[in-house]
Amino acid sequence: SRTQPPTSVRTTCPYCGVGCGVSASADGVSPDPAHPANQGRLCVKGSALQETLVPSGRLLRPRVNGQDQDWPEALAAASGAIRQAIAEHGPGSVAFYLSGQLLTEDYYVANKLAKGFIGTPHVDTNSRLCMSSAVAAHKRAFGEDVVPGCYEDVELADLLVLAGSNAAWAHPVLYQRMKAAGRTGRRVVVIDPRRTATAELADLHLKLKPGTDSVLFNGLLVWLSDQDAVDRAYLANHCQGFEQALAAARQSAPDLAAVARHCDLPVDEVATFYRWFADTARTVTGFSQGINQSVAGTDKCNAIINCHLATGRVGQPGAGPFSLTGQPNAMGGREVGGLANTLAAHMDYDTPGARVRLAEFWGADRIPTGPGLKAVDLFDAVHRGEIKVLWIMGTNPAVSLPQAARVQDALARCPTVIVSDCVAETDTTVHANILLPAAGWGEKDGTVTNSERCISRQRSFLPLPGEVKPDWWILSAVARELGYGKAFGYQGPADIFREHAALSGVAARASGGHQRFDISALSALSNARYQQLEPVQWPVFQGPTGRLDGTRRLFSDGRFATADGRGRLIPVHTTAPGQQPTAAQPLVVNAGRIRDQWHTMTRTALAPRLLSHRPEPFIEVHPDDACALNLAEGDLGRLTGASGEAFVGRVRVTGDQRPGEVFVPIHWNDRYASRGKATALMQPVTDPVSGQPEGKHGVASLVPV
Ligand code: SF4
Repeated sequence: SRTQPPTSVRTTCPYCGVGCGVSASADGVSPDPAHPANQGRLCVKGSALQETLVPSGRLLRPRVNGQDQDWPEALAAASGAIRQAIAEHGPGSVAFYLSGQLLTEDYYVANKLAKGFIGTPHVDTNSRLCMSSAVAAHKRAFGEDVVPGCYEDVELADLLVLAGSNAAWAHPVLYQRMKAAGRTGRRVVVIDPRRTATAELADLHLKLKPGTDSVLFNGLLVWLSDQDAVDRAYLANHCQGFEQALAAARQSAPDLAAVARHCDLPVDEVATFYRWFADTARTVTGFSQGINQSVAGTDKCNAIINCHLATGRVGQPGAGPFSLTGQPNAMGGREVGGLANTLAAHMDYDTPGARVRLAEFWGADRIPTGPGLKAVDLFDAVHRGEIKVLWIMGTNPAVSLPQAARVQDALARCPTVIVSDCVAETDTTVHANILLPAAGWGEKDGTVTNSERCISRQRSFLPLPGEVKPDWWILSAVARELGYGKAFGYQGPADIFREHAALSGVAARASGGHQRFDISALSALSNARYQQLEPVQWPVFQGPTGRLDGTRRLFSDGRFATADGRGRLIPVHTTAPGQQPTAAQPLVVNAGRIRDQWHTMTRTALAPRLLSHRPEPFIEVHPDDACALNLAEGDLGRLTGASGEAFVGRVRVTGDQRPGEVFVPIHWNDRYASRGKATALMQPVTDPVSGQPEGKHGVASLVPV
């Protein structure tokens, strides 16, 4: 696709969903002062990117059944396995498991190949573990998966509520912006069972019982109504479902005392939060994995959105619900249709005419008739032997999915596992029959979309090492082997981006203007203009002078993406976490990110200074529990979950935890520390709407090692 990348470029950080701009060259990285997301800032992970660009551990050649191969043999093996599976077991025996690490162009080609030409609906992504509850809630409330606000809103807000979000560690640069926006009269409420680094910013920290967030926000809706603090005119003119949502909320949260009791919070703290929310027009509620990763994740998101709809605070400067996306391109993947229940370009399987429209656009005749299997169900199907070829791209499900041992067992049983990755040995690549060397950050070209709908370019500044190829190239080459070459004749990512942008316009026009995801104004970019593309928030419009303009906020006029233009308040009932403590597993386990590592550490562990922050897996334990269990600071402890799998870590005794609850980091795995996987303690229980696994609530026993 290219021979000589430029020596220095403006690109985008490959880690979290903040999507910071980076000036990068082979000699080092620095913040891009012109990027709107970070405005000259980088966190420690972004600053250490250069240290992760090392040859050690790279996958440089294709491998088939453990033997190095050239590309023609590897492509023949991959396409041969797919062709055979389709012939013998049908297209549904082929599945793809993608990643929020992929660039939009790579994601687009994978989705097109799978759904349009192979004809399998089984395309899911690690975004299922990350944001799928927020996606489902956005669709229920707004009619489309849309984040209404922008980063500036967290600065403009006079009340910033952070629910289930340790932004200080998970979205560090956005947290820096939140912190820098502090001023007299501005308040911050943090809702989290733990006292996290983010809680240091809080004027009020609600250290609630895990899993009770929906009761807290149901109680807020009831309180707002009882105090006559809802916006009746906004509800009448722009929303549906208020009375039903209120009635459901009253069942679980009839009054302050009931909320305080259920959430295990002091009544006066709950009352203070509710009063601040009612009194502050400019309120942003940021929410993240503590809300999403739950059996009631979608309901929790909607309980939050309900309160914003009821007060007319959506898409206003400094006011709105704000889903903080976890991964660098979780939103780009959602745009192309990378989730099993979506089709493409924000069209779902039940969007009228979508399948026909897509078939015409792609020139494909195998569009599946209904949604595919979501991540946990997909790997169960692999375990049952129903999936004959599983192609995993840029992710490590053998660590990141709950009950990791069962996932590894499923991979071992699958007749053909294809893995495209830039890292040679991960817990997942060891199960690959066909390993395909993919380009990594600094080598690949394309776009990503961050938490505020901002599309940014990732640009290459390093040559492709060894036999490494971009993901879009690998996918297109396999498509050609399968006989679909006409539809996959891309010369580079710009070709793919133009097609993706054009499809968004087809979908938006067919929706009669309801669909907001529309970047068709970018569908005629020349290669040169694509190369120079500046960050822009979708939807994108071309002004009379030809200038491309993005959109900072959506739904500001009270018109939503539903057929009748009204937002929906959703009745939210109480759902307890899937696992409850027992005599055998008396402790509740929470799991989350630490500041200096990313996902399963395959890249960040390469930078020694990032490892120095927390050099080994740990277990944070309340002093009362430590005392009762005869554990002291620095001891090794072993947590054993309901499935019998264990997590071993260094004990950190801290009052930041609630009694009876422990916290473990999600990053380590058996490759970096024996028995270091947090997912060993989590069961594969999922939200019935979104399919997102409950990654924040396991149970375990704890003993000294
Ligand atoms: Fe990268 Fe996120 Fe840090 Fe920005 S905040 S530098 S996107 S890890």
